Parts: sequence; C-alpha cells; structure tokens
Amino acid sequence: MHASSASLRCGRLSPGASFLVRGFRDRRRAPCHVASARLASQADVSSDEAARRGERVADANLTPGARGFADDGDVPRSVADDGKVALKAMRFEEVEAYLESIGERPGRASQLFGHMYRRGKFTERVRDMADVSAAFRDKLARRATFDGDLELESVKLATDGTRKILYRLKNGGGVVESVLIPSETDGTGRTTVCVSSQLGCAMNCQFCYTAKMGLRRNLTTSQIVEQVVRAKRMAESEDPRAAPVVTNVVFMGMGEPLHNIDAVLAAVDILTDPRGLALSHNKVTVSTSGLVPEMERYLRESRGSLAVSLSATTDEIRSWIMPINRKYNLERLIGALAEHFPRKGAGRHQRQVFFEYIMLAGVNDSSEDADRLLDIARRVPCKFNLIYFNTHEGSEFRCSDAATIEAFRERLTAGGAACTIRRSRGDEEMAACGQLGSPDAPEDWKPAPPRMRKPRRLREAEEGAAEGAGGSETVAASARG
Ligand code: SF4
Repeated sequence: MHASSASLRCGRLSPGASFLVRGFRDRRRAPCHVASARLASQADVSSDEAARRGERVADANLTPGARGFADDGDVPRSVADDGKVALKAMRFEEVEAYLESIGERPGRASQLFGHMYRRGKFTERVRDMADVSAAFRDKLARRATFDGDLELESVKLATDGTRKILYRLKNGGGVVESVLIPSETDGTGRTTVCVSSQLGCAMNCQFCYTAKMGLRRNLTTSQIVEQVVRAKRMAESEDPRAAPVVTNVVFMGMGEPLHNIDAVLAAVDILTDPRGLALSHNKVTVSTSGLVPEMERYLRESRGSLAVSLSATTDEIRSWIMPINRKYNLERLIGALAEHFPRKGAGRHQRQVFFEYIMLAGVNDSSEDADRLLDIARRVPCKFNLIYFNTHEGSEFRCSDAATIEAFRERLTAGGAACTIRRSRGDEEMAACGQLGSPDAPEDWKPAPPRMRKPRRLREAEEGAAEGAGGSETVAASARG
C-alpha cells in the first residue's frame, strides 16, 4: 500500500480514491461553494432569499450522486458502464493501489495507463487490450472500465480550423463542449484543447454565454480527462505523423474549474503524468474567475499553471460584470496572488499568473484601467492576455475596437508589463471564449440567473451622454487627444 500512503503524504486523492486508504476517514473535500457562488451571483436579492436559493442549488447539483460517484462517496465509478470502477478517474498511484486491492501486480498500472493515454492506442475498452493475458483482461473487464462517460454528439468546424466538439453526458443532464484549437499559422506548432469542467456555471459573469445556463452539474474526473483523450485521438487520426498533436490544455471551457476542484486537481495530475498523456505542467492551465480559497488550494496542491479571469480593475465594475467579486474582492484576490507568486520551486512558466482581460467597450478599456493593471503587475509577477469579446445574442456588451485594444496593449507594455492580444478563434461556430453552452436546450432548460444592475455612476454617465455630456474616455481616445 505504499502508493496509497504516497497519495496521502502529498495530500492529493482523486475524488473517490480514498477507498484505497484503509482506515482513512478524514477525506479532504473542498467545501461546497455552490451556495456561496449563488450568494455572490445574486447579491441584488436579499441575503435570506439568496441563501434559500443557494441551498437549493447546492442540493440539486453537488450531491455525490450528481458527481457520478457512488453514494458512499468512496469508489470512482463510471456512471454508464454498469457502475464499474472508472480507471480514467484515477491517478497512476491510485490505479496501482486498485490493482493491488484486487490481487493484481501494481506494475500492471503502466500497461493500463499506456492503453488509456499513449499515442496510437487510446484503447476504448478493457477487453480490447490485446497484449495482456486473457485472464487479467477478463477479471479487470468485469470490474473496471476505460469509459469516460461521454458520448460524441457532433463536431462543428469553423473556417479557421477551430473545432467545437459536443459531448452528451452519459449521466444525463445535457451536452458539454470542448474546443480544439489548431496550431497558429505562425509555425509555433501549438494545438490547444479547451476543456469544460462543469455543465453550465454558477458564477454568472455578465459577459458570458455559458453563465445563462446556471450550474447544471459538475463533471467527473474521467469526463474531464476523456475530453483530452478524444481530442488527441481525433487530431492524431487526421495527421498520424505530426508530433506532438495536442500540446496545451486550458480549463477555459464551460464552468468554473475551481468550483469542481477535487475533480480538476485529479484531472491535472492525470494529464501531466509522464507515464500517460505526459503534458507539461507549463502547458496545462486552470483558469478561475477568482474563487480565492480554492485558488490557494490549487496553488498549494498542483503544479499546473494558473490563469485568472480579471476583466476589471475596480470593485465597482468587477462586482457588476463578475459577481464573484462581491465575495472575494480585488484586494483579496490580488493580495492572495501576491502571497503565492512567484511560486517557489516552480518552472519558469508557472512563476507568473496569466491575467485574462476581456475587452469591453466603455466598461474596462480606459487609460486609467491600463494604469491600474500596471499597479497590479508591480505586485504580482504576471502576463496580461487581452481578449476580444465575442458577442452573442442578447448581450449588452460590445467589444472594444481594434485601435483601443492596441493602444491599451501599448500602454501596458510601455509600463513594463508583458501583454499579448488574443484574437477570436472559431466565433462563427460559437466556439470562441465565452460562447459555449446551450441555455435554451429544451431537455435541461432552467431559468437564467438574474442580470446584475449596472453601477449607478455608469447609468448616470450614459444619461449624461445621451444629453450630449460625453462618457468616459477610452485609452485610444486619450492617446489621440
Ligand atoms: S466566464 Fe467562466 S466563470 Fe464566468 S460564468 Fe462563464 S464559464 Fe463561468
């Protein structure tokens, strides 16, 4: 059982893998933050009402059964394949310990990881392993499965080569989406898979299409890992000689990854295990809207990279467009990052945080915003990624124009900050950032979460502008003037 004790020592157990640890009853579960997220997202309603609604959501979405695991919370089980043990939900050491627990050599874990994750294999069923003994294959097939509990629904190809891949969850409740973004034409050879961690999302960011779904359910570890396996299989079947085919994984699809932190921590460990998918920790990035306690746990327990969706530089604006800011405000968020970065013992890439900043015209694109970002950069080693806002039906936001975004970037770089601009990929197929989800799907429809009220200052400025007084000056206008 040395593998189990190794897991214990590093404090990282896959959800459900504690069944392997005899007598270990202090399961380190993250606190349930659905209620708090809903409280944050509905801060315009009374606290009693918000608490009532939050509890209801928590009951509906975060019970162990909703996560796809057995009700006893112990064994990670497939939700589809007769409730067999879900091998794709387990870290390597956990597979070793599981094999030991059924009387098999732990060394066979290498074979299983090879079949599940290595190039040219991606074996779909335990019974398809041709290079193991029939006795072992039969024994394992009766108990365990390679099934990732996703069923391919469709693939939509955009003209820039971006693919939106839709999967139906085998435990019901709807369709999740991943995006396969091919290497840029500049020859970097980088192909990225953007994975979902939840069906819908509770965070209610006002610019986000997924937010309109609310939270429907958390994905299991195996459902997250399976998205990468399927994307790799798809890409490699088209170009078997290209290497490596998928180089980067970003947790920027549907959902707030750290709201499903147990499953995500395990998935990052599995994706970066050199005996399997072998992605570099540099190339696996988890993005958060600012769940501070979970973010700190991620930084303690994972070696993966971190991105923070910032998108505003004042509490006034951020609490409007990202309601999580009402619970963890900018000072709390930036203060926590300043404590943790640069990360000790981390690779070059992970020593800095990646700030995602969606450019919204007249909302967060002023020269003062750029200057406040520079203040943040003086406190936290970071890189800014300015993102073109992809509008969608019913959105009240517009993207800043190209000149404003360029001037914003120049102001940041002139101030000494590292900054790139991310152009929109795949937006005609609704595969771009903030465009995933199907809030109106009839099979899992529920009312959209409430819209947040625009800050009074902006409302008054708009009224003033309507009377000819003019609004706030963008950084481009400031540069011109
Ligand atoms: S931007 Fe991300 S965290 Fe915010 S609502 Fe959308 S999916 Fe959730």
